[in-house]
Amino acid sequence: MITITHLDKHFDRLHVLKDISLNVKPGEVLVLCGPSGSGKTTLLRTINGLETIDSGTITVDGETVDPKSREIRRQRQGIGFVFQQFNLFPHLSVIDNITLAPRKLKGLTRDEAEARAMQLLDRVGLRDKRDVHTDTLSGGQQQRIAIARALAMEPPVLLFDEPTSALDPEMVGEVLSVIRELAQDGMTMLCVTHEMGFARDVASRIIFMADGRIVEDTSPGQFFSAPESARARAFLQDIL
Ligand code: ATP
Repeated sequence: MITITHLDKHFDRLHVLKDISLNVKPGEVLVLCGPSGSGKTTLLRTINGLETIDSGTITVDGETVDPKSREIRRQRQGIGFVFQQFNLFPHLSVIDNITLAPRKLKGLTRDEAEARAMQLLDRVGLRDKRDVHTDTLSGGQQQRIAIARALAMEPPVLLFDEPTSALDPEMVGEVLSVIRELAQDGMTMLCVTHEMGFARDVASRIIFMADGRIVEDTSPGQFFSAPESARARAFLQDIL
């Protein structure tokens, strides 16, 4: 589903991603974790073509992701990305937020796009919010709408960049439970998160990064009970 080979990236002189290779199979749920500045967000953004790369290759669902290609806008919309800060269009209603991309980029009619959007609103438990402006919603509700919006493009994979870290604590659970249900439905997902309880329950693999490298790529059981590297042991000691 996702194949990354020998990916390198610098921000000027800062070497943020160092020889990253990673394979993600359909239905896998990967949790990316690691110390601040280790390159997790940058890795996720390169997969969605939001960052250029220096060398290496990224393919998603058989297509090479290249930010310089003319196809990149379509590709980006086809790979679901859920941001920490939701990034909804505040001046649009919930239903317009969800139907905009399918209508513009997939050529769906308004009726088709709205029918699909209503199914997705049911899925995230927000059917009654279809006509409100998103800036009137709580953070947890906005993030659930952002997930519905990403799903509306029927992406082969969903990428989450710390989807709960901008939320008040009481709203974290409602967003994690939507992601948990997607995992149960077999959605392929990569999630950067510091929610280690969620990682332990939901991840099929834990990718631990430090200093721009993948240091461990292992099962949650192994990672949480017997991490191999000193870096991972120190990380877990700090956050658990
Ligand atoms: P965190 O857990 O704090 O979000 P992270 O592991 O996601 O960290 P990244 O956000 O990928 O790390 O950042 C990796 C490094 O790249 C950091 O040193 C960061 O300051 C730097 N960086 C990220 N984006 C840019 C940018 N646009 N320009 C320059 N440097 C950047």
